[in-house]
Amino acid sequence: MVLPALFEKTRVVAEKTGKVAYLMEASRQVLWNIGSSRFLDICTFVTAVSLAAGFSGRIRAWLRGRKGTAAGQVSERLRALLRAVSSQKGMIRGGMYLGMHRCIVYGMLFLFTGTVMLAIEMHLGVNFIHGAVYLAFGLIVDLAGIAVLIGLSLAIYKRYVVRPDRLESGLRDIFPLMLLAMVVLSGFLLKGVRIVATADPWAVWSPVGHAFALLLGVPLDQHGALRLHRFIWHGHVVLSFSLLALAPWSKLLHMLAVPLSIFSRFPITMRMAAGFSEDSGRGAWTVADCTRKQLVETDACVECGRCKKLCPVFLGGMPFAPMILLKRLRNLVRKGRWTSPLAGQVIDEAALWSCSLCLSCEERCPMNGEHGFGIVAIRRGENERNRVPAMIAARFDRNLASLADASNCPTAPHPGFDVYLWPGCKESNPDQSEILRNVQQLLKKAGVNFSVLEPPACCGGPVRRLGNEPLFQRNVALNVGYLEKLKNATVVTCCPHCFNTLGNEYPVFGANVKIMHHAQYLSGLAADKMLLPGKSSALKAAYHDPCFLGRYNGEYTSARALLESVAGLSLIEMKHSRQKSLCCGSGGGTVAAETARQAGQRLLTRICEEGAEAIITGCPYCREILRAAAMEQASEKPVAILDVAEILHRAEIP
Ligand code: SF4
Ligand code: SF4
Repeated sequence: MVLPALFEKTRVVAEKTGKVAYLMEASRQVLWNIGSSRFLDICTFVTAVSLAAGFSGRIRAWLRGRKGTAAGQVSERLRALLRAVSSQKGMIRGGMYLGMHRCIVYGMLFLFTGTVMLAIEMHLGVNFIHGAVYLAFGLIVDLAGIAVLIGLSLAIYKRYVVRPDRLESGLRDIFPLMLLAMVVLSGFLLKGVRIVATADPWAVWSPVGHAFALLLGVPLDQHGALRLHRFIWHGHVVLSFSLLALAPWSKLLHMLAVPLSIFSRFPITMRMAAGFSEDSGRGAWTVADCTRKQLVETDACVECGRCKKLCPVFLGGMPFAPMILLKRLRNLVRKGRWTSPLAGQVIDEAALWSCSLCLSCEERCPMNGEHGFGIVAIRRGENERNRVPAMIAARFDRNLASLADASNCPTAPHPGFDVYLWPGCKESNPDQSEILRNVQQLLKKAGVNFSVLEPPACCGGPVRRLGNEPLFQRNVALNVGYLEKLKNATVVTCCPHCFNTLGNEYPVFGANVKIMHHAQYLSGLAADKMLLPGKSSALKAAYHDPCFLGRYNGEYTSARALLESVAGLSLIEMKHSRQKSLCCGSGGGTVAAETARQAGQRLLTRICEEGAEAIITGCPYCREILRAAAMEQASEKPVAILDVAEILHRAEIP
C-alpha cells in the first residue's frame, strides 16, 4: 500500500518537473558535486591501517591465552551463534531494550550494506543502483537510519536518564553511541542538501532526506546548497570512516568479540568434565595463564552489569562481579602486564573464595562469559602455589582425614538392587540424612528394592570447585573403584552437588552408573503409579530451584510435577525461578559464611514477598541456609522450608 502510493506521488512530482521520462531510470551520479575520489581514498587508506593495526593487536593478545579445556561441537556452537546474532535474544532482555538493540544492529547492517553497494558502484564502475533499485535503496537506507536513531535514543535514555546502578556510564560507553548518531544525522543532512541542490524528482523515496530538504530549502539557494553539500560530504566521510577505524580501539570491538565469545562457549558441565589434569586445565596464576576465551571476554564485555544483578558476592557488598574482574583483566592485558598475578589484582582474595559458582552471572551474560570456569581456574592457580586461606585448608584437611578412614568402608556395594542411594555428606550437612530418611520411606512405600551405598569418599565436588584438583581425583579414584561392580545401575542422590559431580564429571574417570536426582526418580515412580502422592494441608508453596540442579543441569520439571500432584498444595511460580533462580549462597565449596547468610536472608525475603507459605527445594544446602535465615528472621508467621521428599512423605500416601 505504501510503496504504490509513494510511486504515484513520485510520478506526479516527475510530471510537474517534466522528468517523467527519467522516472524509470531514477539514479544519481556517484561522487556528484565532489568529482575526485582522492579524499575517499585517503580516508580508506587511514582506516585500513587503523583496522589492520587494531585487530592484529587484539587478535595477537587473544592468541597469547591458553587454548582451554574443550573443543568440538562446532556445528552446535555455530547454530547457537546464528540464533543469538539473528534474534538478539539473550543479548538484551526486556521488550523495549531488545527492540532498541535490534534497531541499532539491523539498522547498521542495512546502512553498511548500502555503503558497500555504493563502494562497488564507484570502484567497479558498474551502475546497478538505478530505477526501482535506486528508489528502494533510498527508502531502505532512510528507514534503517531512522531505526538506528531510535535505538540510539533509547540506549542513551537507558544509560543516562534511567541510569540503573548496574550500568557503567563513562566516556567509553557514550562515545560510540554519539559517533554513530552523528554519522546517521550527517548522512540525512547530506541527502537533504543534495535534494535541494538537484531538485531531485525522486526525493519522496527518501522521506527523511526529503524532510531535511524541506527544512533546508527555504534559506538555501542552489549555489549555497552546492557549497554546503561539499562541506557536509567531507564531514560525513570523516565521521563514517572514524567509526570504522576506531572499531578495534573502542567499545565497538564488542561487535567482533561478542560473536567470538558466544561461539567459543561450552556448557559448564562439559567444561568441568574436560580433564583438568591436562596442561590446558592448569590453574590460572597470572594474566598469561588465562584462556583465549577469557581474553576475548575482556573485549566482549559490554559492561551491561547484568552479572552483578543477582550475584550473591556483589549483593553481599564485596567489590566483585565478573564485569569488574574482566575490566581489571583488560587493563592488565592492554598494558602488557602478562605476569601480574590474578588473585589480588583482578579479583580480591575474599571474593575469590566467596563465589558460590551459582552461574547466575553466566546465565545473564549477553556475551556468554564462562565466569564460573574462570573463578575455578584462579582457585586452582592458588592451590598450585599453596596459597589457600586457612578455612579452606582446614576443609581440605577434613576431606583428607576422611580418605584415611576409607579403609574401614566396604570395598564394593552388594549387587542386585533396583536402585542405590548415594548418601552425600552427612557429616557436613545433617539435613542430608533427614532427606535421605524421607526418600527411603517413600521407596519402601513404593515397593522399590533399594540399598544405601557406603562410598569410601565424598563425591569430591566441593574440593574441585575450590580448585584442589589432585584431592578431587583422590576422592574420585576411591569412589570409582567402589562403584565398579555396579555397571549401568541407577544411583539416586538427594544432593544436586553430588548429582552434578557424579553425573557429569565421573564418567571421564571411568564411572559407569546412571545418576538421578531424587526428584527425578520419585517423579518416575509417580508417573508409573508406584507412588501416589496424597494430600497436604492447604498451602501456597514456592519451589526454589537449586543452582546445581537447574542452571547446571537444566532440571526444572521433576520436582514441580511431583508437587503439582500433591492435593492441597498450590504451587506458585516465583519471579526468580528456573534459570533466574536466586542463589542461597552456599554452593561452590564456599566457606564465606557471611555471604551465604546474607544470600539466604535475601532469598527468603524475596520468596516470602511473593506470598509463599512453604518453600520446597531439592537441595540440603539450600534447605539448611533457608532454615537458618528463617530462624534469624523469627517471623510471626513462620514459613515451612522442606525438601520435595519431605512434603511428599508428609502427604498421605495410600
Ligand atoms: S557464579 Fe554466582 S557468585 Fe560467582 S560470580 Fe557468578 S553470580 Fe557471583
Ligand atoms: S560480564 Fe557479561 S553480564 Fe557482566 S557486564 Fe560484562 S557483558 Fe554484562
